[in-house]
Amino acid sequence: AKRKGRDTLALYDQAIDRAERERREIEMDLREVIARGQLNLHYQPVIDLDSGAVVGYEALLRWYHPRRGIIRPADFLEVAEETGLIVPIGEWSIRQAFAETAKWAGDFRIAINLSPTQVRSPHLVAIVAQAIHAHGIAPERVEFEITEHVLMQESPLSMGNLQKLRQLGVRIALDDFGIGYSSLSYLRRFPFDRIKIDKDFVEGVEDSADNQAIVSSITRLADALGMATTAEGVETRAQLDLLRKLGCQEAQGYLICEPAPGEHFATPAAISAAM
Ligand code: C2E
Ligand code: CA
Ligand code: CA
Ligand code: CA
Repeated sequence: AKRKGRDTLALYDQAIDRAERERREIEMDLREVIARGQLNLHYQPVIDLDSGAVVGYEALLRWYHPRRGIIRPADFLEVAEETGLIVPIGEWSIRQAFAETAKWAGDFRIAINLSPTQVRSPHLVAIVAQAIHAHGIAPERVEFEITEHVLMQESPLSMGNLQKLRQLGVRIALDDFGIGYSSLSYLRRFPFDRIKIDKDFVEGVEDSADNQAIVSSITRLADALGMATTAEGVETRAQLDLLRKLGCQEAQGYLICEPAPGEHFATPAAISAAM
């Protein structure tokens, strides 16, 4: 039994070594990612549930890795966040999203995710202001999505940056609403323009009256607070119809369109027609 325990431990050590090597490899590659031109943004359209029209796009980061293929944020954001590399990567995303948006016809919104480290970073507001100006994007068309993790840390820098972003005229959305610890209290810390209902709730919305009651409470709460609601992760027609019935205003998800590179969205009208 003792020997078996040692073997298990050895295997465990090996697994840890492997994970640590993997992590270091990602970190090293990530340091070169901008210089090597391996970052890309995919965009996912957001539609208005009444009209079916595309009202915006969310920019989602993709790493085109020469050996590993397309890597999604789940596999590198943690390392990027821990090492601070998310700051230059985020700057790249903001500039890239505005540059691409400026080339497309229509006056849809462009939504960009910001991590807690980005929101705390001292140059964020100047970078956003500069990029808006450089690409001639109306600030009202820009929306930043943050999660409650940004507010959990109660950093004066973060709060100050959010307020300054707001003064520039850009909008701020609370992402992943409902799955965190005490989401309701965060609604009081900052006057968000929008709540994004997490896909966990959307996934379950057909299954039970309870789930429907939760979604409908969120939309009524948002209404009362003067915030709009967007449901994310909509995968079925039944979910889409229910969300509309429950008072949600906008939706995004694979049913409508999977995230895709910007060149696919030169003509947003194509998607509205398909809905
Ligand atoms: P998120 O902001 O909650 O984004 C929604 C995620 O759900 C995206 O995953 C999207 O591709 C995926 N999704 C969209 N529709 C559906 C659907 O119908 N079903 C399912 N199952 N999933 C759907 P993705 O692109 O892998 O991004 C994961 C997370 O990484 C994002 O979650 C966001 O928090 C973060 N992220 C993405 N891009 C950036 C970025 O540029 N900067 C920062 N800081 N974070 C980013
Ligand atoms: Ca988001
Ligand atoms: Ca989300
Ligand atoms: Ca999410």
